[in-house]
Amino acid sequence: MTDEQLIARINEIKKSHPDNLMARHFDAAYFGDLDAPLQARLRKIIASGVQNPNSSMGAYAMAADDYQQFAPMLDAMIRDFHGIGAGTAIAQPHDWDTSAVACDLGAIDAKLKEVSMRVRVARNVASFPLPGAMSKEQRVAFEDVAAAAFAKLIENPDFGGQYLSITPGSAHEIDSAEYDRRVAAHQMFKDMSNDKYLNVAGISGDWPYGRGMYVSADQDFLVWVGEEDHLRIMSMQTGGNLNALFGRLHCGLEILEGLLPDFAMSDKYGAIASCPTNSGAGMRSSLHMKLPRLTKGGTDLVRVTFEAKKLGLAVRGAGGEHSDAGADGLVDVSPSARLGVSEMQIMQRLYDGVAALWAMELAV
Ligand code: ADP
Ligand code: MG
Repeated sequence: MTDEQLIARINEIKKSHPDNLMARHFDAAYFGDLDAPLQARLRKIIASGVQNPNSSMGAYAMAADDYQQFAPMLDAMIRDFHGIGAGTAIAQPHDWDTSAVACDLGAIDAKLKEVSMRVRVARNVASFPLPGAMSKEQRVAFEDVAAAAFAKLIENPDFGGQYLSITPGSAHEIDSAEYDRRVAAHQMFKDMSNDKYLNVAGISGDWPYGRGMYVSADQDFLVWVGEEDHLRIMSMQTGGNLNALFGRLHCGLEILEGLLPDFAMSDKYGAIASCPTNSGAGMRSSLHMKLPRLTKGGTDLVRVTFEAKKLGLAVRGAGGEHSDAGADGLVDVSPSARLGVSEMQIMQRLYDGVAALWAMELAV
C-alpha cells in the first residue's frame, strides 16, 4: 500500500467506523512528517486497525518504546479510551495494600460466595520485543526464560504446581486433550491462530511455539506465556474474598519479579502492554456471575451491558472476549478502567459495581 492508499483507506474508516480509535486519531500530517523508518514502524502498529475496520482500538505496540516514540498519536488514543482529558497528565499510581478496605462479596449476598473471581495483570519484559514483533526463536527463548523462573517458583511450598507447554517438542509439552481441558476450565488461553486482529498484528505468529501456562498446586495462581503479552499473571478463586484474590496475585507477582528479567514499566503508562487498552495497572479483574434476569436467561446482553457501563463495568460472555453468555445468564463482569486507577481502586470498583448490579438483578 502506498502512503496515499493508506491515508485514503484510513479516511474511509474514519467515516465508516467512527469508533475505530486508530482511525479517529490518525493524522496524515503527523504520519507524513515521520522519516521512513518511523513510518514503517507506525504502519506495523496500526496494521490491525487498518485491516480490521471494526477494531475498537486498532493498534498494538511492537516495542516498549513505541508509546514514547509515537506519543502524539498513541496518547490521543489512550486518552480517548481511558477517558483522560487533555488537561490531566497521563500517570499510573500503584497500590496493592489490601488491608485498607474489606471487599467480601459474601457481605452483598451469601450467594456471591460461589462466583468465580479472577484478576490478571499483563506484563512484558524489557529485554524482548513485544509479541507482535517477536521471531519464532525469540518466542521459544522467552518461554525458556519463563520456564526457568517457574522451576524456582515450584520449589516454593506456597506455590508448587507445574509448567505446561504447547510448544512442539518442549520438555514440558502437554497433548491436545490436556490443552483442551485446560481451556475449558478457563485456565489456558484459546488458540490464537484464528484471531484476525492478533494475526494481522503478528501477535499470534508462530503458533503454538513459545506458548504455555504455569499453574500452582492449588490451581489458584496461573501465568500465561506467549498470549497477547509476554505474561498474563493471574489468580482465580471462589469464596467471595476479593482481598484474598488480589493478595494472592500480588504475592506471586512480586516473587516472579525477582525471578524474571525486568518488566517494561513506565511512570506514565504503567505496565507496558501490547494493546493500549491494557496500559496502566495492566489489570482486569472479573467475576463470572449469573445474571439470568438482566440477560433474559443469557440470551440478551444489551440491557446488562448498558446498565453495567453506567457503573464503570464491562460485560463479556462466559468464554472471554467476543463470546456469548453461558447457562443461566453467566457473564464476565469487570471494571473498564485500567490506566490512572490503582490496583486497589480497581478492586473497590469491582465490588461497588457488582453490589449495584446485583441489586438491579434482584429488582427485575
Ligand atoms: P483477559 O483478556 O482478561 O485475559 P479473556 O476475556 O481473554 O480475559 O478471557 C480469558 C479466559 O478467562 C476465558 O476462558 C474466560 O472465560 C476466563 N475468565 C475470565 N474471568 C473469569 C472468572 N471470573 N472466572 C473464571 N474464568 C474467567
Ligand atoms: Mg484477552
